[in-house]
Amino acid sequence: MRVIVIGGGYGGIRAVQALVKNRDLEIVVIDKNGYHYLQTDVYSYIANETNISDITIDLGALFRGLREDIQYINETVLEVDENRNEVITHNSRFTYDYLIIATGSVTNMPVKVEGIHRYSYGVKSLHHALLFKQKFEASIFEYIKYGGCAKFNIIIGGGGLAGIEVAAEMAYIKDIYLTTIGSGCKGVSIYLVDGSGILKGQDPYVIEKSTKRLEKLGVKLKIGNRISKIDKDFVYFGDYDYIRYNFLIFTGGVLGNSIGLQKEVSTNKIGQYIADEYFKIHKNIFAVGDVVEVLDEKGNYVAPTAQSAEQMGTGIAKNILRDIAGKGMKKISPKNRGFLVALGGKYASANLMNLVRFSGYKAYFFKLLVTEGYKLPLKYFTAKGRKIAENW
Ligand SMILES: Cc1cc2nc3c(=O)[nH]c(=O)nc-3n(C[C@H](O)[C@H](O)[C@H](O)COP(=O)(O)OP(=O)(O)OC[C@H]3O[C@@H](n4cnc5c(N)ncnc54)[C@H](O)[C@@H]3O)c2cc1C
Repeated sequence: MRVIVIGGGYGGIRAVQALVKNRDLEIVVIDKNGYHYLQTDVYSYIANETNISDITIDLGALFRGLREDIQYINETVLEVDENRNEVITHNSRFTYDYLIIATGSVTNMPVKVEGIHRYSYGVKSLHHALLFKQKFEASIFEYIKYGGCAKFNIIIGGGGLAGIEVAAEMAYIKDIYLTTIGSGCKGVSIYLVDGSGILKGQDPYVIEKSTKRLEKLGVKLKIGNRISKIDKDFVYFGDYDYIRYNFLIFTGGVLGNSIGLQKEVSTNKIGQYIADEYFKIHKNIFAVGDVVEVLDEKGNYVAPTAQSAEQMGTGIAKNILRDIAGKGMKKISPKNRGFLVALGGKYASANLMNLVRFSGYKAYFFKLLVTEGYKLPLKYFTAKGRKIAENW
C-alpha cells in the first residue's frame, strides 16, 4: 500500500509523522523545494535575529530521519490523474493508493490591481523573503548613504498576520538602523494599508494591542483604503488618493495552490479545494492546509494557519491508517488553540484559547517557545537523517 504526500510544509510533515507508525506502508513525499520553509518565523529573519538555516528544514534528511525507507522526491507536481491513481511530475509518474495534497498557498495578488505583480514584493516563499530582505536593507542603506533626509516611504499592503508582523519588524529595525549607521532625520515612513481593518475576525484584545504597538513604532495605518493601481512611483487608492513609495510589500490574502485533477474538483473563489468532513476531495485523495477551505461549526470561513494545517495533516493520516485497518474514518475539525502575533523586537501579543491574554515580552517569549517546540524535534530527525546518509 503506497501513500503519496505532495508538499513537505506544516501539513505534509505532520501527515508523514503520523503515517510512519504503520511500518508496512510505503511513503513517498514529493516537494518542489529541498527544504521546509518556516513562514511563521519570517519576522525573526527580517529582524536579523535568525538566518536562512534557522527558517528552513532539509526535507530529504528529515524524512530519512523519520524513517529510512521514506522516498523523498524533489520535483514539482504538474497534475494528478485520479483515474489511473497517478501523480505526474516533469520526469515521472508515481502511482498511489492514497494521496494527500498539501501544497499550501501563494499570495493572492488581485488581478484587477494594475502593476501589483511588477512592483511589489512578497514573503510567502523563501526566495521572495530573501529578495525582500536584501532589497529592504539595500534601500535603507542607500537612503542613509545619501544624506537620509529625503522622504522614504515603505508601504505594506494587507493587515493580516503576515502584514502586521512584517510592518512591526520593519518599523522596529529601521529605527535601529537610523540610530546606529545613522542619520538624525526621520524621513522613513512605514504605511500599513488594508481595505477593511487589521487582523480582521481576531480577538479584540489582540487587535487593540497590535494597533497600539504599531502606532508606537510609528507605523501609519491607512485603513479602509483599497489599493487600486500601482506604477513605478505611486500607489493609488481610487482616483484621487495616492502615496509616493520607495518600497512596496503585498501580503494580501492567500490563493490555494491547488493541483489539477482530470475531473473538475470544486474550489472556492480563492482556489482552495472544497472537501468533505474528512478533508477528502475525491475517493482516495485528501487535501490539507492552506490549499483546502476550512469552515467552523457555524459554516464561517476560517483563515488558514500553520496550526490548523498541522492538525489536518495528523487527522488525515490517522484516518488513512484507520481506513487501511478497516475502521471508519473520524470527522476532522481543526481547533484554534490560540493566536500569537510578533510585534517588532521582543514584543508580541497572545490570546490562548480565549482564556488567557497577554502582551509584551512574556508573549514574545511564549511565541519563541512555540516556535522552538515545533522546530526542535524536526531538527533532531534531520540530524538523524544526515547521520544515516553518512553511514550509507
Ligand atoms: C509571514 C507569515 C507569518 C505567518 N505566521 C503564522 C503564525 O504565526 N501562525 C500560524 O499558524 N500560521 C502562520 N502563517 C500561515 C502559515 O505559514 C500557513 O498557514 C502554513 O504555511 C500552511 O501550511 P501548508 O502545509 O498548507 O503549506 P506550506 O507550509 O506552504 O507547504 C506547502 C509545500 O508544498 C510544496 N509545493 C507547492 N506546490 C507544489 C507542487 N506543485 N509540487 C510539489 N511541491 C509543491 C511547497 O514547496 C511547500 O513545501 C504565516 C504566514 C506568513 C506568510
